[in-house]
Amino acid sequence: MSLTRTTCPYCGVGCGVLAGADGTIKGDPDHPANFGRLCSKGAALGETLDLDGRLLHPKINGKNADWDTALDLVASKFSNAIAEHGPDSVAFYASGQLLTEDYYVANKLMKGFIGAANIDTNSRLCMASSVAGHKRAFGTDTVPGTYEDLEEADLIVLVGSNLAWCHPVLYQRIAAAKEARPHMRIVNIDPRRTATTDLADIHLQITPDGDVALFNGLLAHLADTQMLNARYLANHVSGVDAAIEIARQTDSALCGISAPERTTFYNLWASTNKVVTIYSQGVNQSAGGTDKVNAILNCHLATGRIGKPGMGPFSVTGQPNAMGGREVGGLANMLANHLDLENADHRQAVQDFWESPTICSEAGLKAVDLFQACADGRIKALWVMSTNPAVSLPDADAVAAAIANVPFVVTSDIMEKTDTNDLADVLLPATSWGEKDGTVTNSERRISRQRAFLSAPALARPDWKIISDVAVRMGFADAFAYQKPADIFAEFVALDAAVAHFPRDLDLSIFADADYATLIPTQWPHNSRRFFGDGQFYHPDGKARMIAVTAPELSKSRFALNTGRNRDQWHTMTRTGKSARLGPHLAEPYVEINPTDAEALGASPGDLVKVESTYGRTILRALITPRVAKGQLFAPMHWTRQRTSLGTVNSVVAPVTDPFSGQPALKSGAVTAVVYKPKWYGFLASHTQPTPQTPYAAIAKTQSGWQAELASRKMPNDWEAELRRLSGLTDGVVALQADPAAGTIRMAVTQAGCITGLFFVSSAPVVLSRATIVSLIGTDTPPLVALAGQSGSDQPDAGATVCACFKVGRNTLLSAAANGARSVAALGEATCAGTNCGSCKPELQTLLAEAQLPMAAE
Ligand code: SF4
Repeated sequence: MSLTRTTCPYCGVGCGVLAGADGTIKGDPDHPANFGRLCSKGAALGETLDLDGRLLHPKINGKNADWDTALDLVASKFSNAIAEHGPDSVAFYASGQLLTEDYYVANKLMKGFIGAANIDTNSRLCMASSVAGHKRAFGTDTVPGTYEDLEEADLIVLVGSNLAWCHPVLYQRIAAAKEARPHMRIVNIDPRRTATTDLADIHLQITPDGDVALFNGLLAHLADTQMLNARYLANHVSGVDAAIEIARQTDSALCGISAPERTTFYNLWASTNKVVTIYSQGVNQSAGGTDKVNAILNCHLATGRIGKPGMGPFSVTGQPNAMGGREVGGLANMLANHLDLENADHRQAVQDFWESPTICSEAGLKAVDLFQACADGRIKALWVMSTNPAVSLPDADAVAAAIANVPFVVTSDIMEKTDTNDLADVLLPATSWGEKDGTVTNSERRISRQRAFLSAPALARPDWKIISDVAVRMGFADAFAYQKPADIFAEFVALDAAVAHFPRDLDLSIFADADYATLIPTQWPHNSRRFFGDGQFYHPDGKARMIAVTAPELSKSRFALNTGRNRDQWHTMTRTGKSARLGPHLAEPYVEINPTDAEALGASPGDLVKVESTYGRTILRALITPRVAKGQLFAPMHWTRQRTSLGTVNSVVAPVTDPFSGQPALKSGAVTAVVYKPKWYGFLASHTQPTPQTPYAAIAKTQSGWQAELASRKMPNDWEAELRRLSGLTDGVVALQADPAAGTIRMAVTQAGCITGLFFVSSAPVVLSRATIVSLIGTDTPPLVALAGQSGSDQPDAGATVCACFKVGRNTLLSAAANGARSVAALGEATCAGTNCGSCKPELQTLLAEAQLPMAAE
């Protein structure tokens, strides 16, 4: 089987992948982002390539249509809206999943040919505050460093970043560097203890949004202890005095950690020359995200620790192509190729190059404002590309209603059933990873090829082609006559050459003569160059700017809700949710609660908790853990209305945004929490896919079909009918066991001697091994044996999945540890856990610590 060299479609690390049409997936040993490593999500890519649930034909109002009819309709609806209501009456909402070529074409159509800037993207939710902070400090949106800097640093400060789960291969590179250079220190700044914290020497458990107070305190400390780089500041930085004055006025205690903890951190930072500060969503997704970014950048500028090996600020992006989107200007406040939308000369240069009839003259609507405009009727035609705003935006229920309010909605997507597609008039089938060709840019400015190794199924088309086809029908045939993605990339590079006289960081000259087909992963401006090593920045005076930032008032709500991600899932699970291997690790929507808060609420493990705000409510499984501090909750954002009834966490998040970046505050929303008491809890395993119908319902793929966690306050009259309604199992014979004293009902469905469904109901949370029950589906186990819900003696219950690659459960690991495997390596030898992708290693370490067994030296 020949393998194709391509790039992982998930996070911004941008790992190289060798992929085959038979589902073979390997890390690319020659890719400089990962050198052969893959995390659990990347390693399971082969399980996501099937056509289950794929959108394979254009659809108009739910009915299959041919491409010409669908494209004619989309083009005419957009053209008519523009003619009747003006260019600002239409909008595109795009995605960091799009390839650079897709993004380029969408941005060109909206800004140069429609003449508005209403193109925003889910990258607004990811790193817009970093963009705004970079531009304030550097004059450009520049990520100065490289991944090698993380390995060369003597101190890594991780701020609001659960790297172990969200950028696992970067985490692994840092862990390996720390092992090789044990003097490397790691400080983890996070209100929550995460899997990443286990690698850290110091965990600073600040209050949510306490970052500016902490870093202003650091800046004041650097100034007060004469640790500023006076020569560097004099020659290369402006705004110094004002930033230091505000920093000195800041009460650093507002960050929520003790004075000795702050002093230890400040002294460590001050005395270590090679410092890299990595930050991601915990910094960006905040009402003060841009100020947080600048508070961090201020400290690096004040010491001149930027642009040199092993030092500098480092924003890591969540999306695989957030950086590529930024390069082509795919945000409502950007122009193409890192040019400024506010600059008339820049706009003219782009219009001249595109030979376009118009060019947008002012910034368009950023994500949250864009959907507000949908709600109040300003947007008449909306095109959502490769993303799911009806569930991923804050105040998600209102966003869904806003989309429903738009007279004409088109989506282009790989999947047929999504929360957003359910609201669209027209669905356009897009090609998926493995079928599309183009480029992506990772967090260190490295452009890599995504290459097709599968043919496009049925009528699916690449996004660039769909957008171009619509543009042609809107009357712009000459400007969108692309035949292949290489044509678009060549134009992107040529535009860069045409505007080379404007001072910018973006420089694509290294790609001018590149062969697109054989393009190897390449950093711009040219391989391995760090920015700002010469002290030259992009403000008109050539200097960087320190920004005076004020620590915000902190929320006094009963609970602050922090939202985030799980190790084995990606965004709204459209792809990772297909993998039975990835499903069992945290298989239902949950909320982490501190034990003290749980006690006050009367919540026990396994209970359900209703989390509510003025915007909405959600019901989640209680996960009681000291990882979250008192007064804080944490819940993952992956579950959609396709897989849960009330587990859409963004339904309760307020649509509050940062005033500079427009990025929503997804990390510290004010909520209340109460225990939700159903009349019954249930666990269902079935070979058919259940639909979420009870107030608490969460479905997940398994090796034998599907599983569902259920709960309701309504007692059914007929349990067999309820089982059939929830599972969709219309055939087969049902065996039922009821134990009124214990408050349990157990049911098994058999068809032709084979178990097709098992349903366990209880008045208390169901405590049976999910893995065991799931393993019985599809077997010829006698129903009465299956209803025992227990493994045979030769099949001990493995417990909750920890290692997804080898399906190793918690009980298996605890047993191995009790039998002498007292290190991560020894657990690997005994069970294989952690020996493939390594994503579970932090959890293995935690499990050993929790088991309170003496540790062996690694
Ligand atoms: Fe993909 Fe994992 Fe690499 Fe991110 S770290 S690019 S998800 S393999």
